[in-house]
Amino acid sequence: MGKPKIVILGGGYGGLIASRKLEKMLKNGEAEVTLVNKHEYHYIATQLHKTGAGTAADDKITMNIPDLLKTNKVTFKKATVESVDCEKRQVGLQNGEKLSYDYLLIALGFDVNTFGIPGIEEHAFKIKSFKTTKAIYHHIIKQFDAYKEDKDPSRLTFAVAGAGFTGVELVGELIEAIPALCKKFDVPVEKTRIVNIEASPSVLPGFDKEAIDFTTKFVKKNGVELMTSTKILEYNAISIKLDNGSEVPSRTLIWSGGVRGNVILESLGLPLNRGRIEVDQYLRVAGTENIYCIGDAAYFKKNETSSLPPTAQVAIQQAETCAPNLVAAIRGEAQKAFEYHHKGTVASIGTMAAVGKVFGFKISGLFAAFMKQVIEARYLFVLGGPSLVLKQFAKTSKPYHQVAVQENK
Ligand SMILES: Cc1cc2nc3c(=O)[nH]c(=O)nc-3n(C[C@H](O)[C@H](O)[C@H](O)COP(=O)(O)OP(=O)(O)OC[C@H]3O[C@@H](n4cnc5c(N)ncnc54)[C@H](O)[C@@H]3O)c2cc1C
Repeated sequence: MGKPKIVILGGGYGGLIASRKLEKMLKNGEAEVTLVNKHEYHYIATQLHKTGAGTAADDKITMNIPDLLKTNKVTFKKATVESVDCEKRQVGLQNGEKLSYDYLLIALGFDVNTFGIPGIEEHAFKIKSFKTTKAIYHHIIKQFDAYKEDKDPSRLTFAVAGAGFTGVELVGELIEAIPALCKKFDVPVEKTRIVNIEASPSVLPGFDKEAIDFTTKFVKKNGVELMTSTKILEYNAISIKLDNGSEVPSRTLIWSGGVRGNVILESLGLPLNRGRIEVDQYLRVAGTENIYCIGDAAYFKKNETSSLPPTAQVAIQQAETCAPNLVAAIRGEAQKAFEYHHKGTVASIGTMAAVGKVFGFKISGLFAAFMKQVIEARYLFVLGGPSLVLKQFAKTSKPYHQVAVQENK
């Protein structure tokens, strides 16, 4: 019998941490591990809002996957996954290739949920991947450029749908980016609008009152038009129709109204719950012995009615349990049940403020912004040790909103 083959689908938080852990745990030659990802680079999904606003350089957000793998125990394959044949134990790739597996780990992440609202899928921008988010920044730049010609105010109205975690983080970045872009393009800042539309009665649903009050005050003080208890009915690329009968003329609507499992999961023939793959306590796909699923793609029951949230924190912790379970499966040892330990949540509002809770302590303002940096650094540490933290922090490339106009075009 040949070596057992492990195939990991997705090189995001879950897939990469699992790969790194397998590198550490597997003996030389014990298994053949292949990590498949759409792109050669890993993007730090929790910082994508900065790419959208241009407040971070690309090399701060992306890292070359082969450089992150430290041994020859895991082979990287750049390819797009299209299908999984559980009977034949094969993964179908877009390039026509088939990859055989004995054990499969699905970590294909999230997709944006547009709830079927007319025009959103076609016209709104989405924070889904590095590429889709980069498109937001390019579009914003084009609007400034075009405004100089036609003076159409809808070009300078930047609307964000959703004031949940991602929406607030994006608005925070826009608060810093838009005035800087006004300077560059010589456009009066008073001509610009940042509009944040949220269906719930407040920003950050699920956060405590102090965090909500702090955030509301902060964004309003910085000129954001916050529209809570307001639903978007339709978007046609130039105007947003609201349920209160009014319209917001805007050529930029960034949708951050919710996430769901990657749509590709629907075609895999595996049991789904609310668009995510149902897993058991060992992170194995319900009804299978050799397929595991983690992160945003997985539906891990918290109780009878709800699942763990789609967060990086969950994906990382699941990867840290899943990799040993894969090794145990190969060695014929017992599986370990996954236990989630919530350490806290911090939402940034630009670089100088944040809100949230860490180890049960409520934090806000500059200190919370500092803690957010610590959390990001911790991820780099888990992924690549102190050398990766230093390497990323030493990068001196400027954020896009601070580089010259000519370079932006
Ligand atoms: C702006 C923003 C801010 C966030 N902030 C936080 C935060 O502060 N804290 C927190 O805990 N969580 C946060 N999250 C959520 C967090 O980013 C996700 O929960 C996390 O990325 C999930 O990890 P994952 O490994 O499941 O998926 P991902 O990190 O999304 O990785 C999936 C990988 O699969 C690849 N892929 C997808 N489809 C295919 C395919 N067909 N073929 C091959 N490869 C494919 C993708 O390219 C990607 O590399 C934030 C999310 C966003 C968007």
